Amino acid sequence: MQIITDPKEFQSVCWSWRGQGLTSALVPTMGFLHAGHISLFTWARANAEKVAASIFVNPTQFGPNEDLDRYPRDPEGDAAKAREAGVDVLFLPEPGAMYPEGFATTVSVAGLTEGLCGASRPGHFDGVATVVAKLLLLAMPTTAVFGQKDWQQLAVIRRMVRDLDIPVAIEGRPIFRESDGLAMSSRNVYLSPQDRALAPHVQKGLQAARAWKAQGVTSARELTQRLTAYYKDAIPTARPDYVACVHPETLAPLEDASGPALMAVALFFPGARLIDNLLLD
Ligand code: AMP
Repeated sequence: MQIITDPKEFQSVCWSWRGQGLTSALVPTMGFLHAGHISLFTWARANAEKVAASIFVNPTQFGPNEDLDRYPRDPEGDAAKAREAGVDVLFLPEPGAMYPEGFATTVSVAGLTEGLCGASRPGHFDGVATVVAKLLLLAMPTTAVFGQKDWQQLAVIRRMVRDLDIPVAIEGRPIFRESDGLAMSSRNVYLSPQDRALAPHVQKGLQAARAWKAQGVTSARELTQRLTAYYKDAIPTARPDYVACVHPETLAPLEDASGPALMAVALFFPGARLIDNLLLD
């Protein structure tokens, strides 16, 4: 596995794959790799001739009071895991190389970014869209791979790629979970042992919502109220940021959840803000 820190060098290696007619997959990450990330690498390895991964804790997607400075990092451990998973090129740029003096461009996707995480993290998706646009233009992969855990992020990236005619297929992969159901996240290490023990209720609540719908509850308001009450009871230490029932593609809030519906939640635990989601059908 080749490790590259210089964006232009990364671009020249990835573009040479295109020149040779090879298919490639890019997996962008912020590192501190866990089995969820590895599941994306494994998909990429099985579906493309060349695999590139990036690890970049992108400063522009963090708000002023967020956890940029304490975001967990383990570049050496990550490199070993990426090598093991069959990554061909690991891109590890420095912030100054991605955003040199005078950097002035922002990619902003309207509408889709307004609700859910966008409401409590203003500017977050501009940071995401801008860095992903850069990574796609550097790597020009056949396919870029993202996790459905960040459902809104995936929707934003799909829209950006469509709107800007970026010639890349976007692959969204299922949420990879701990054996107790907690969605894997680099931020799970911030949870106290007590909160870690309660955190599986995030998914249990979502599954309960799916069961309520199956039993005939189709009012989105009723589903979100029930789920909010479930969390209050089961995870008293967590404060919901949002509990939302939305259309899976437009992310528009639903009134009637009898058709396609996504339940998406974010909860502030004392140590970390966790997100999760589940299609109710
Ligand atoms: P991150 O390093 O958290 O920015 O995540 C990098 C990529 O991995 C994103 O596309 C995430 O959606 C994806 N990802 C993170 N956690 C999981 C998970 N538990 N299962 C599947 N994909 C994930």
